[in-house]
Amino acid sequence: MLERSIAVIGGGWAGIAAAVELTGAGEKVALIEAAPSLGGRAKRIDGKAELDNGQHILSGAYRETFALMCRIGLCPETLMRRLPFTFLNNTGMRLALPNLAGFPGVETLRLAWGLSVARGISLKDKWQAAHWIRRLKRQEFRVEPDGTVSLWLADSGQSAQFCHRFWEPLCLAALNTPAQKASARLFAYVLRDTLGSGEKGSSDLLLPTVNLSELLPNPAARWLTRHGVSIRTGCRVRRLRPIADGWEIESPAGRENFSRVILAVAPQHLPALLEELPGTTMDAATFPAPPAAFSPIATVYFHYPEATALPFPLMALTGGLGQWLIDRGNGLIAAVLSGSGDWEPLSREAIADQLHQEIGTITGAHECPPYTFLLEKRATFAALPGLTRCPQQTPWPGLFLAGDYCWADYPATLEGAVRSGLEAARLCLP
Ligand SMILES: Cc1cc2nc3c(=O)[nH]c(=O)nc-3n(C[C@H](O)[C@H](O)[C@H](O)COP(=O)(O)OP(=O)(O)OC[C@H]3O[C@@H](n4cnc5c(N)ncnc54)[C@H](O)[C@@H]3O)c2cc1C
Repeated sequence: MLERSIAVIGGGWAGIAAAVELTGAGEKVALIEAAPSLGGRAKRIDGKAELDNGQHILSGAYRETFALMCRIGLCPETLMRRLPFTFLNNTGMRLALPNLAGFPGVETLRLAWGLSVARGISLKDKWQAAHWIRRLKRQEFRVEPDGTVSLWLADSGQSAQFCHRFWEPLCLAALNTPAQKASARLFAYVLRDTLGSGEKGSSDLLLPTVNLSELLPNPAARWLTRHGVSIRTGCRVRRLRPIADGWEIESPAGRENFSRVILAVAPQHLPALLEELPGTTMDAATFPAPPAAFSPIATVYFHYPEATALPFPLMALTGGLGQWLIDRGNGLIAAVLSGSGDWEPLSREAIADQLHQEIGTITGAHECPPYTFLLEKRATFAALPGLTRCPQQTPWPGLFLAGDYCWADYPATLEGAVRSGLEAARLCLP
């Protein structure tokens, strides 16, 4: 009889969450990761000049992520800067939700209040936005049937100008998919849990002040090691095979048996591991295939002189090539290009040059400084209407899935990854 032990394959935020949950429940766990360190898409890049793998912004709604951090002894509020939701762009538009911490029970008024004093938005647009969110709340943010965000916004009576300047950039930031293609249902879920939520702090923005690996992956690795978890980095699992009372895992380290397995790999890595399993039933009715369409994210880090700064740490760019700017302090400004778009065929030099000019109109910087260009072609799955999600319980006994693509209520996010990891662990437990 095989000793009870669980392999978690994939050490991104989903795999980390699963490993912590299982360890807390007293299970014997091995966490197996192909890369040299944990963190998956959300970590400091191995070997690159002290830079994160793209900008990660958390929202106050990421409750399970914060709980996970606390569980391993971290204090989220000291690792991130919390700001009330503020949308500021390069044309002077400014919508900031007030901090009503001293006024309990009025959380639901924050959006209406913020809109009423917003700059660069017509009275009509303010009224229609507030009215629409109220209507969505009454409908519990349900969108039936699912369609694109663009059509949904047009049907809701939002003006083309306000969509272009506010809702569309927000959709791209949250879903990494342009509004013309993005799922209205998923965007509605994001609004439900953030701008439309009555829960204190849910719409806040949290900007990491430590590097991404220190936000969770490295402290989690230390916590797991202390609690007896065997962490194997640089170890890519090649094959899974069901055996009498569990699973055999084949990796460069050899073959090893476990009683249960959680596969917490990214969706593009899943088919190769599942295709050789007996009776593979990846058909839409029983076990839908993972998402096969992806959206890129390019991040260009500009290393300006130390004094160069944005007026606010997070700014939207309207009418240019770039979409968001993040001020990382000490002159480091990250420009983000999300989702498929006109920027893709351009050369890196042309993109950087154009972004530097857009930054210059805000900061006054003339000289294009040295920059680092990072491109993640498959940054996230494309959040398309009607996307089917893989169930976390697979047709193969003892094999479970985790990953941002499994968590149906969210687009590809850290919170979706964490929630899926926790759920996979619970399914795994007796
Ligand atoms: C540039 C960028 C910006 C982003 N911005 C945000 C943001 O602002 N806010 C937000 O919430 N989210 C953001 N995201 C999304 C977020 O990073 C992901 O949703 C999350 O990290 C996914 O975690 P995961 O554990 O599901 O998958 P992954 O991070 O992909 O982890 C899967 C792991 O499995 C490993 N693996 C794969 N195959 C094998 C194998 N055969 N054997 C062993 N290991 C294997 C991989 O190496 C990887 O470490 C962003 C993503 C990118 C790329």
